[in-house]
Amino acid sequence: MYYNDNTLLFNDGEWLKAKDLMVSPYAQTMHYGIGVFEGIRSYATPQGTKIFKSAEHYKRLLYSADKMHLKLNYTHDQFTKLTYELLEKNNLSNSYIRPLIYTGANMSLFTNDEVHVMICAWDWGNFLGTKLLNVMTSSYQRPNPKACHVEAKVTGHYVNSILATTEAKQKGFDEALLLDMNENVAEGPGANFFFEKDKVLYTCPSGNILPGITRATIFELCNELGIKLVEKYFTPDEVRGADGAFFTGTAAEVLGLNSLDKVNFKLKFENTLGSILQKKYTRRVAFNE
Ligand code: PMP
Repeated sequence: MYYNDNTLLFNDGEWLKAKDLMVSPYAQTMHYGIGVFEGIRSYATPQGTKIFKSAEHYKRLLYSADKMHLKLNYTHDQFTKLTYELLEKNNLSNSYIRPLIYTGANMSLFTNDEVHVMICAWDWGNFLGTKLLNVMTSSYQRPNPKACHVEAKVTGHYVNSILATTEAKQKGFDEALLLDMNENVAEGPGANFFFEKDKVLYTCPSGNILPGITRATIFELCNELGIKLVEKYFTPDEVRGADGAFFTGTAAEVLGLNSLDKVNFKLKFENTLGSILQKKYTRRVAFNE
């Protein structure tokens, strides 16, 4: 699904066939989860293929690497140029792009000077699908920000996400909603969360979440459309039975929820602010409108 015999990826200055990439079995990333990455999308636009908010994504990658003491000799502009080259080499247009910074063989718990840079891409639809989601409040909390840099996109943090999604699916839900260490709503396993009550949107402040680039885009769109948006802490009690809710993320884009903990949202999704923002987001990424 992600690659075939001809797929090329960028690795440490070289263009390699994906099937030929060799990674050390002693790579520290593989054993301990220290690595950083991004999830970026490109879209077919009337002006050709465009990577949405490439600078923002690569700045976050550089920030995440810095927080994890991984030294990189690239600027965000160089990363963007390489990514356009990658898309061209693989003939990709509407794609999902995955840069990964991983470390070399090192079984110690000290950070590593051997830092590798890989960028790959593939065709990918909406990763949570397009149907409205039935979501459960997870029994797993998001990591305490005093235990790690939650605002960085670190490979190891996704163990928490995998546990939460797996629990939700095993219980017959589509996805999980995780709380923070104070039992306030934080975010989904791979997306930020918004809910609507009386024509006002609410989302939690940054601090205990990965503050998404899509989330920031929603802030911009709300501002442009005159939609009132409030950042505050809230519990799942306030969300259950609210008017509407949605997840946002590069991969998920803007995706509506049907229910939380089997309690349906009051409005039909097409009558919510989430639906207006979903349509506007689609036009922003594809037509810059
Ligand atoms: N939270 C988590 C935990 C995520 O993995 C993602 C996806 N990167 C997001 C939020 C949304 O971030 P973005 O909008 O930058 O993709």
